[in-house]
Amino acid sequence: MILIDGKKAAAELREELKVEVSELKSKYNKVPGLTVILVGEDAPSQIYVRNKEKSAKEVGLKSEVIKYPDTVEEKTVLNKIEDLNKDESVSGILVQLPLPRHINKQKVIETILPSKDVDGFHPMNVGNLSSGYESSIPCTPLGCYLMIKKIEPNLSGKKAVVVGRSNLNGKPMTQLLLKENCTVTITHSKTKDLKGECLKGDIIVAAVGIPELVKGDWVKKDAIVIDVGINKTEKGIVGDVAFQEVSKVAKALTPVPGGVGPMTIACLLKNTIECFKRSN
Ligand code: NAD
Repeated sequence: MILIDGKKAAAELREELKVEVSELKSKYNKVPGLTVILVGEDAPSQIYVRNKEKSAKEVGLKSEVIKYPDTVEEKTVLNKIEDLNKDESVSGILVQLPLPRHINKQKVIETILPSKDVDGFHPMNVGNLSSGYESSIPCTPLGCYLMIKKIEPNLSGKKAVVVGRSNLNGKPMTQLLLKENCTVTITHSKTKDLKGECLKGDIIVAAVGIPELVKGDWVKKDAIVIDVGINKTEKGIVGDVAFQEVSKVAKALTPVPGGVGPMTIACLLKNTIECFKRSN
């Protein structure tokens, strides 16, 4: 079984991006800039944002974090986004989710200029991705896609099963696999025979949020299994896939932690660079 090392894949991607940033710097005499807006004190968000900033600096991006208390008015955040939209030194804007309840998430997402939407959440980018046009692609599914392609460069005709239909993961993952000519089944909490559906997959991507939902006998021999889940349990952080059992049947599998997570951040940097290139 191939253990898909997300840390290694992310380090390799960051190296490539570092070279690209340095070439862009020589060509344009400026570097791509990423601005992250963080509202409130949510502990995981603080950690994610710190990691994003560290990685951005490592590849040579200009990186800035704007912090607001969780009492900040929605208008203040929207005004700041408007300013960043106009700021030529800012290539990408990311508003860290979740936001406090008094701030309308959709309004925030739609205020970010689609060309600076490094998360790929703006309806314009969502529509472009599903139409097969150039767009920002949500970072987590993009990372999954790149890891799958490393194992299997030609996905044409493969059966892929995506477990979970969130806007963040399941839906964009489905679009990416469709673009690769996979036959994709998207499953969710109301799916009748989840095990039976999973068993058909040459590729399974699990993005649910239920610890070890996908069992060993749900997986076809030699399938590629990507585990997006991050679940806190008594035995520590586990994914949505029962790692030990599935590792006995799968051809390749991502661990949790150390699989999809590191690639997500590297893909955010990639998206920032793509936004810079498109705007120049
Ligand atoms: P979500 O809660 O928005 O969506 C979960 C999806 O799972 C829903 O579509 C729901 O229909 C489906 N689902 C729920 N119960 C199910 C069941 N019993 N059978 C089949 N499907 C079921 O979650 P999300 O934001 O997509 O996140 C999913 C997981 O991925 C979480 O554990 C989250 O922490 C993790 N995550 C990881 C990364 C990363 O970088 N590795 C990034 C984002 C999210």
